[in-house]
Amino acid sequence: MTQPKTIQDHAVLNAGTRIPVLGFGVYQIPRGHETQQAVRFALEAGYRHIDTASFYGNEKDVGTAIRESGIPREQIYITTKLWPTGFLRAEAAFEKSLRHLDVSYLDLYLIHVPAPVGRNRAWRALEKIHASGRAKAIGVSNYSIKHLETLRQISSVVPAVNQVEFSPFLYRKELLEYCTDRGIQLEAYSPLTRGKRLDDTTVRKIAATYGKTPAQVMIRWSLQHEVVVIPKSSKKERIIENANVFDFTISQADMDTLDNLNENYSSLFG
Ligand code: NDP
Repeated sequence: MTQPKTIQDHAVLNAGTRIPVLGFGVYQIPRGHETQQAVRFALEAGYRHIDTASFYGNEKDVGTAIRESGIPREQIYITTKLWPTGFLRAEAAFEKSLRHLDVSYLDLYLIHVPAPVGRNRAWRALEKIHASGRAKAIGVSNYSIKHLETLRQISSVVPAVNQVEFSPFLYRKELLEYCTDRGIQLEAYSPLTRGKRLDDTTVRKIAATYGKTPAQVMIRWSLQHEVVVIPKSSKKERIIENANVFDFTISQADMDTLDNLNENYSSLFG
């Protein structure tokens, strides 16, 4: 990935397909009208990549919003995820997600978390789903280097993506280098620390120098690390704001300053 210049920019995955560098996350957006409306706002703002999960309970609404947008299915990149309760019946869980989304294929199907029981078996099922063409790419989420190394020993298929929490406050340099070296695209979830560090003085100061908001700087920081990024908001203005990150470049000096904000922050544990 070179420095992205438009919302249409893509990264090329090891599966041979292209993933838009900016996606829209829908975790914790209530099912029904709210998810449908948020996805509609996102599509209107130009996002063409939606990140959901069976666990979020809103796949059906993502599907509805995509259908109602009138945008051809092939122009929208859809990711969903397999929750551990489905590890032993991954094929059935996958089919259920397809039904909920009302699509015939997924662009990316991820193992949601590396729960110990059944995850290798689940990965083999994902390999078969990928080989059948019903998931254009398969990957993992919340995998550490150790998890990826274990997976490498039992499989010859390298995950296309590892989706993990990633932000200036959780700069996972070693994991990013490991994934880059092996052709695994890192994807940043909770790139805005779920709003918890948007008032940080350093981020605010840097944002002001570019005439941008702290959220825009945090999203751009991930992009400049060549990480695909999937911010979430249910508010129209913020959805637009978070997509407006392609008209500036953070200088190397400011990137270094942001890198140094790392405090191994986790949005789950604070
Ligand atoms: P984010 O870091 O994207 O932050 C979302 C929060 O920030 C919301 O509370 C939102 O509030 C607020 N926010 C968004 N934009 C702005 C803005 N411009 N200014 C101020 N506040 C803002 O957190 P998420 O945890 O939602 O992560 C993003 C996506 O990543 C998820 O939706 C999901 O798709 C994925 N994810 C994956 C996980 C996994 O295990 N694989 C785990 C967690 C997330 P409001 O909605 O009110 O605007």
